[in-house]
Amino acid sequence: MQFRHPTADFFVPDNAAPDEALMRTTHLCIAAHQDDIEIMAYHGIAECFGIPDRWFTGVVVTNGAGSPRSGIYADYTDAQMQKVRLVEQRKAAYVGEYSCQIQLAFSSGEVKDPKDPAVVADLTRILVATKPEYVYLHNLADKHDTHVSVTLRALKALRSLPRKDRPRRVYGCEVWRDLDWMMDDDKQMLPASARSNIAASLVGIFDSQVTGGKRYDLATAGRRLANATYYAPHGTDEESALNFAMDLTPLVADPSLDIGAYVLSFVDRFRSDVEKRVRAWAG
Ligand SMILES: [Zn+2]
Repeated sequence: MQFRHPTADFFVPDNAAPDEALMRTTHLCIAAHQDDIEIMAYHGIAECFGIPDRWFTGVVVTNGAGSPRSGIYADYTDAQMQKVRLVEQRKAAYVGEYSCQIQLAFSSGEVKDPKDPAVVADLTRILVATKPEYVYLHNLADKHDTHVSVTLRALKALRSLPRKDRPRRVYGCEVWRDLDWMMDDDKQMLPASARSNIAASLVGIFDSQVTGGKRYDLATAGRRLANATYYAPHGTDEESALNFAMDLTPLVADPSLDIGAYVLSFVDRFRSDVEKRVRAWAG
């Protein structure tokens, strides 16, 4: 498969033919950076792990340039750092038994430029070849501009597919902002309790990021535990780890829906819940 950048990377952990690795995909995650997939879409990875007819494929859109570096990576050039991050992402794909791992190597600037058609073109090519049933994207209330931009490009690609080829469900997932604030009825529940050993390995493998002074491994596990614990005030926890997602399926099913109005409707319901509670008990 040809992509915009010659430096794009296509890795199949079990050495299946590339076409087969694409075609067998049932769960697809499109994320901005190396390690985002493992933070946000562990649910999809675990759904497919060791199941013969389910396959998870990861897509990382950017090239990992400009990431912070310290310790043994302190003197690495941007090019060396991109290589480190590419290899770390391959390691995660191997441990998580992904069908394939695609790294498209776009700059953040390219991703954030709404007039640049190349990101949407590459994503459309991947979607046509994989026809996934479940798609994991960044949520639209994320605070990282590149994350939001990647989701907007992915939505554009998804909306361009023939109706019969669109996924059954599209999740907007947690990285730079969790979704605890959403109304419980609006939350898509993504259980993440299975194989906590694999879950821990998948985030821990990104040594260049954790060494950079950010304990994404601990924070990701902590978020999932907090979500599971604080989800319901009564009763015991059915899950020991939980991610929440924003349902983005309606935006793909109906391309005429306004994306901004759609995400703000979640915020509006949260706002009126806070208002109602405070007014009810203020006396
Ligand atoms: Zn990211």
